Amino acid sequence: MNSVDLVIYNIGEAVYFKEPIRKVNDENTKMFKDFGIAINNGEIFDIGSSDYILTKYNSKNKINADKRLLTSGFVDMHTHAIFAGSREDELYKKLSGISYSQILKEGGGIYKTVSITKNASEETLKSNLEKILKKSISLGTVAIEIKSGYGLDLENELKLLRVINSFKEYNIISTLLAHVIPKEFDGDEYVDYFINKIIPEVKRQNLAKYVDVFCDENAFNLEQTRRIFKAALKYGFKLRMHADQIKYIGCSDLVKEFPLSSIDHLESTPQEKVKALSETGSALGLLPASVISMLDNKKPAIDSMRNKAIIALGTDYSPNNPMISMQTVFDLAIYYLNFKPIEALAYSTINSAYSLGLNHLGNIDIGKEADLIIWDVENLNQLGYYWGYDRINTLIYKGKIIKSQEN
Ligand SMILES: [Zn+2]
Repeated sequence: MNSVDLVIYNIGEAVYFKEPIRKVNDENTKMFKDFGIAINNGEIFDIGSSDYILTKYNSKNKINADKRLLTSGFVDMHTHAIFAGSREDELYKKLSGISYSQILKEGGGIYKTVSITKNASEETLKSNLEKILKKSISLGTVAIEIKSGYGLDLENELKLLRVINSFKEYNIISTLLAHVIPKEFDGDEYVDYFINKIIPEVKRQNLAKYVDVFCDENAFNLEQTRRIFKAALKYGFKLRMHADQIKYIGCSDLVKEFPLSSIDHLESTPQEKVKALSETGSALGLLPASVISMLDNKKPAIDSMRNKAIIALGTDYSPNNPMISMQTVFDLAIYYLNFKPIEALAYSTINSAYSLGLNHLGNIDIGKEADLIIWDVENLNQLGYYWGYDRINTLIYKGKIIKSQEN
């Protein structure tokens, strides 16, 4: 018998995806029943029937899954999790019918968070982020993308990116975000500054994998976004984009000019444009909690991307939408966006991982990182059916049990 770090047996059901999913079918998606997994050195070492795994592998750590469902952990593909302060006052404004654009024009929204964040020390930011990360992981997120963007100037953007990069023990992908134009700058001047000062220095210090631009009304216009993307590509960054959230001004059309790893939001993208986007290799990032937090009932054109696009899911955690649970995003993908549980699972695991270039995550396969959830339900349809509370029975992160209901 071979000795391994951990054996899980008696798993009732689990889902394997062959590749990032556009349309679920028998070729790309398989359901395993009554099987087991051997885990060693933080990776999935072997998969087979429960009997096969128990006969072949020995371990000091064995989990009887008791016929429960097992899935990959979630990948949160879009967050703004590094900032200081909070904005609960704006919830009341939004509930009184004041739009987010209006709040932004009055110096609230992002601008308010920027001024608090600029004054915050690196230690404060680090302790804020650590709390958020711990919550996110305990609710099933095993990898997370985090954007800068509340610093705006070179010194403060570097400060945020340094803090993001300081959590070496977690799976974190760091993104430099061109978020808004600071009040003291003319738009094109700030783009010059971003291109000439911020992008080269972030590259020199190797602090981000992606550059993202908030392309929208009252943010960066099409030409400004184009200039930032050109500079980012020149320095070897990969690209993501906030597109068509507030108003369609043509931002998502930039996919024809640039290799975008993900195009996120799309709440205001016209249907025919969504159809064209769906045929590209870019992931379309949907953020249902963010839509709900805007209180404006604007949903993306789901029917034009269903079964065609590589859809990915994220929380869009931010001071405007302080909701860090990918379990809730999975629930909203079903009950709010009306995807099937199998689709919501693919979008929040393998597809989200694809959008971040994390090929070793988001799937149950030999050689992948062992980030697994044993759920307190027997099958995937039950996981979708029950909602609104934490259904994790056991959480395994990098091959180690970090949460267990029995403990
Ligand atoms: Zn965002």
